[in-house]
Amino acid sequence: MPERPPLLSLDDALQRLLAVAAQHVIADTQSVDTFDALGRVLAEAVRSALDVPPADNSSMDGYALRAADAAQAGALLPVSQRIAAGSVGHVLQPGTAARIFTGAQIPAGADTVVMQEACEAVPGDGLGAVRVVAPTATGAWIRRRGEDVRQGATVLTQGTRLTPQALGLAASVGAATLRVVRRPRVALLSTGDELVMPGQPLKPGAIYNSNRFMLRALLQAAGCEATDLGIVPDQLQATRDALRVAASGHDLIISTGGVSVGEEDHLRPAVRAEGRLELWQIAIKPGKPLAFGEVKADPGSAALFIGLPGNPVSSFVTFLLAVAPVLKALQGADARMPAALPLRADFDWPRPDKRREFLRVRLNDSGGLDLYGNQSSGVLTSTVWADGLLDNPPERVIRRGDTVTFLPLAQLIAR
Ligand code: AMP
Ligand code: MG
Repeated sequence: MPERPPLLSLDDALQRLLAVAAQHVIADTQSVDTFDALGRVLAEAVRSALDVPPADNSSMDGYALRAADAAQAGALLPVSQRIAAGSVGHVLQPGTAARIFTGAQIPAGADTVVMQEACEAVPGDGLGAVRVVAPTATGAWIRRRGEDVRQGATVLTQGTRLTPQALGLAASVGAATLRVVRRPRVALLSTGDELVMPGQPLKPGAIYNSNRFMLRALLQAAGCEATDLGIVPDQLQATRDALRVAASGHDLIISTGGVSVGEEDHLRPAVRAEGRLELWQIAIKPGKPLAFGEVKADPGSAALFIGLPGNPVSSFVTFLLAVAPVLKALQGADARMPAALPLRADFDWPRPDKRREFLRVRLNDSGGLDLYGNQSSGVLTSTVWADGLLDNPPERVIRRGDTVTFLPLAQLIAR
């Protein structure tokens, strides 16, 4: 009797995946140089021990003075000091101005900066004088101490995935190292006797192994340490052996192919023999079959297992929708889907599927979405052409001009 796996909605499948991932959250943390922390997930919050900026400073090249001394247009003030960024001036004598540059600390006694474009330098003894052409509002062109970050404030919370801008912020509060979660260790298996590596001649009946490249890169983009275990032959024993190797030292095993219900698909019995397995049909297109379980490793531990479909577009989409959230959850990061955008469809989709579809679409110059002509699950060209997935509910007919839901690939791939 062929196995009839339950049909699950994507949301239900995700809920189950995340419930199990919650039991496998990576507990190991490490301290890394802030320099090298891009893409890592914070294991503890970053708090600031200082105000940023640490003192009031000028946001313009100009003159620091007391606004009261320049209340009249054309006021002439002797320049009493010169303060460059990085140096500290002295107390400003009333009735004088300090030549000041962007980023330099405001001297005590000054309450305003007049930008140099609103002044005329008047040569004379010493530093000369300045004529303030038009009066300025008190407090102008001063960046206030602590206006960015207050001392004691949490600037980055635990579970934050470190973006370039988060690294900049961490550095701005003086954090030289950051405590992050160990990278997820993920083993990758490709199954299929038809698969050949680029560089090898393509014998009759063979195709190049594209998923191996795509999935390995997706894992790397998600901040994982990916171990590529190569192509597993379509044999039960070989598959079991590969799974045992993969389970040791890895948090997660990802496989591609071999999870549909054909008799050449050995992953199901192999995972069952080495651990436990649930087989689902997820009601999405592309994507459908997904295997999920655990493979026992040495003493008392187990690696999570997710078996992706073999069709390249299916494995791409399923990775983004189901594996990426698991990888985030394993690191204690927010696993929710990125925000979707309502956008206009510039095409018709008259025959929708009864499953929820993720169509490959691209933003056009007029702010609408174009559809890739061939949406079949083997057409990898569509994934390169597209810059997002249109999340279409089951049986929803799309008419040109309708508002639809767009998920940018950039956000799905690395967020
Ligand atoms: P399967 O799930 O093993 O039945 O594979 C479904 C389809 O995806 C078949 O046409 C396979 O040849 C193709 N396929 C499986 N694995 C890969 C891979 N690693 N790279 C490219 N195509 C694949
Ligand atoms: Mg196969």
